[in-house]
Amino acid sequence: MNRAIVYTNPGTIETEVIEKPIEEPAPGEVLLRLHYSGVCHTDYGICTNVFATLPPTPKGQIGGHEGVGEVIKLGPGTTSLKLGDLVGVKWSASACLSCGNCLEGGETTCPAGTISGFMTPGTFQQYCLAPANYVTPIPRSLDPAGAAALMCGGITVYTALKRAEVKHGQWVVVLGAGGGLGHLAIQYAVALGTRVVALDVGAKEEFCLGLGARAFVDFTKFAGEEDGGEQLAARVKELTGGAGAKVVLACSSSNKSYAQAVGLLGFRGTLVCIGVPEGGPEPIGGANAGDMITRELKIFALKSGNRADAKECLDIATAAGIKTRYELRPIDSLTQVFKDMEEGKINGRVVLDLR
Ligand SMILES: [Zn+2]
Ligand SMILES: [Zn+2]
Repeated sequence: MNRAIVYTNPGTIETEVIEKPIEEPAPGEVLLRLHYSGVCHTDYGICTNVFATLPPTPKGQIGGHEGVGEVIKLGPGTTSLKLGDLVGVKWSASACLSCGNCLEGGETTCPAGTISGFMTPGTFQQYCLAPANYVTPIPRSLDPAGAAALMCGGITVYTALKRAEVKHGQWVVVLGAGGGLGHLAIQYAVALGTRVVALDVGAKEEFCLGLGARAFVDFTKFAGEEDGGEQLAARVKELTGGAGAKVVLACSSSNKSYAQAVGLLGFRGTLVCIGVPEGGPEPIGGANAGDMITRELKIFALKSGNRADAKECLDIATAAGIKTRYELRPIDSLTQVFKDMEEGKINGRVVLDLR
């Protein structure tokens, strides 16, 4: 039987482990025995229905979009993988690979694509079907549990840095630096030769500096929106030798964090929107055309990365020794994990042990 974690009552953090039959792979598919799944903040959002831009999550949804497992059965006609291969399942469960978006590399926005853990069964289960041409081969030299968290968190932050065209020596500010995305963002930014200023709550200072950040700022010590984020911007300017950030990676899903992000940018700075804001849509605070023209700013967003981004993300992790900091927890602990997320108690990632 397949033990799977389902969202019992979407809108709340209730989950339960159920048993269901193991399915057979269709042509072009493989059956995976998943060993690990990372828990992303977006899973929490999908379980609790906080995204105004998405339809409500169905009852009984199997969540999860950061899986690593072994190929145990090939669907008819599948030749690109063999039994025993270790592969990863990403945020995009599938993409058509031939539409305009896909041809430009935008597989995660393919109109015919499916999302792991939302409307399509995700990686919070022991057995999972996946298209053979869309899973990501995982190098055996990587820790498989840590690699699970790279399947969303790692790919997303690496793709953000790649598309922001970071160069050696530039200052990168990571918002939500101690979280699942943020702690990987620090490591990828350092591996790509940039200097990092990490922003998070004070308790995460040691953790962030230990990952290679040059400086840490406890944003709670600065006035919030009352001063338009001016004091915080001044502190970041000071830490970056007066220049301000070349790139700001907004890894946190809080609208408050976005409200202060634009102010941290220096000349020709780029804000990359990564964390999906929870609650209703709000404009990105501090962004106005006049100021954007004056500083020649750029703002863009991305939804994780494509197959090529995934491969590069894993290659860099292997070459640079990037390590997911995670806590391994049992399959029946998802509700508790969501609780800990709500309380901001998690450093790095939680990875569920599905073995
Ligand atoms: Zn994710
Ligand atoms: Zn497509």
